[in-house]
Amino acid sequence: MKVPFLDFVAPYEELKAGLDEAYFRFMRSAWYVLGKEVEAFEQEFADYCGVKYCVGVGNGLEALHLILRAYDIKAGDEVIVPSNTYIATWLAVSYAGATLVPVEPDPRTCNLDPDRIEGAITPRTKAIMPVHLYGQPADMDPILSVARRHGLKVIEDNAQAQGARYKGRRTGSLGDAAGNSFYPGKNLGAFGDAGAVTTDDASLADRVRLLRNYGSRKKYYNEVKGYNSRLDELQAAFLRVKLAKLDAWNGRRRIVAASYLTELNGASGLTLPFVPEWAEPAWHLFVVRHPRRNDLQTRLTEAGIGTLIHYPVPPHLSGAYAEAGWARGTFPVAETMAETVLSLPLGPHLSADEAGYVAGQTNLAVK
Ligand SMILES: *Cc1c(COP(=O)(O)O)cnc(C)c1O
Repeated sequence: MKVPFLDFVAPYEELKAGLDEAYFRFMRSAWYVLGKEVEAFEQEFADYCGVKYCVGVGNGLEALHLILRAYDIKAGDEVIVPSNTYIATWLAVSYAGATLVPVEPDPRTCNLDPDRIEGAITPRTKAIMPVHLYGQPADMDPILSVARRHGLKVIEDNAQAQGARYKGRRTGSLGDAAGNSFYPGKNLGAFGDAGAVTTDDASLADRVRLLRNYGSRKKYYNEVKGYNSRLDELQAAFLRVKLAKLDAWNGRRRIVAASYLTELNGASGLTLPFVPEWAEPAWHLFVVRHPRRNDLQTRLTEAGIGTLIHYPVPPHLSGAYAEAGWARGTFPVAETMAETVLSLPLGPHLSADEAGYVAGQTNLAVK
């Protein structure tokens, strides 16, 4: 049996009729940028997340960057970020010119450890950026309460968690604003790059709308130095088709995750994802940890099973941040994660047989 890490063909086949319809509607409209499809998607995604506003932008990195710009977070300001995340979270802060203050995750949840935040706050701190990593919601209540005490913004990186819930509420609606990515491999994936900002903050939404389109409200009148970061009409039309399926597809991910949790329970040396009782994960990834991760990956590759490592290098040790001079050992929790994590195949089109095969092979490999 061959099990790819993620199947991109089956989702297309399941949605083909709706996607074709969206494509022809888009072509017949002959309107390509910031039109009816984007407006409709923004409304539908705002409703889905349970927020007042959604602003479609070019990608997830830009969503985070534009939020920071809109809140006027800049050089001299500090932003607290997880030490273990995809580098985009960090790059957004760097693009805004602000200073990164990495904080280690809770090793059980792999998400920002609320107990470590207070110690990282200084008079220059402006915001906290929790990431709902792997589709597991971060523990938002203690993060929000420390933020409120210190007058800080909370900006969710919701790139990996469309559809997840924290204490019954959707991620992307829990902080002051959230950056969402619709990169093809994400739970709500476009057919190219796309992203969005979600928020209840009317003035933030207005500011992001301005910034995404050259700082212009009225064509050729530019109020501020904006950017070109717009969600495409075509991607918005496709995303509307996929959004209608998101809950159903996340439900299928949940079934695969539940079978892995059962079948891999007790496997020697293997650490499984920990799901707190208040979390309803979106199961973007199913990440196990093992001290001999590379051997495990090799064994699974030999068995025809596609796996990935999210992520092999923590941002502070990447070439991109070499100039900051963070030595190995600075963020040991993030470093251990980078050495031990392995993502097993997971997606809405993974069959029960395939999931059984992956679990069986994983159990054999760690024996
Ligand atoms: C994918 C991702 C992003 C960036 O999204 P893009 O659309 O690729 O720019 C940001 N943060 C996290 C945690 C991500 O996984």
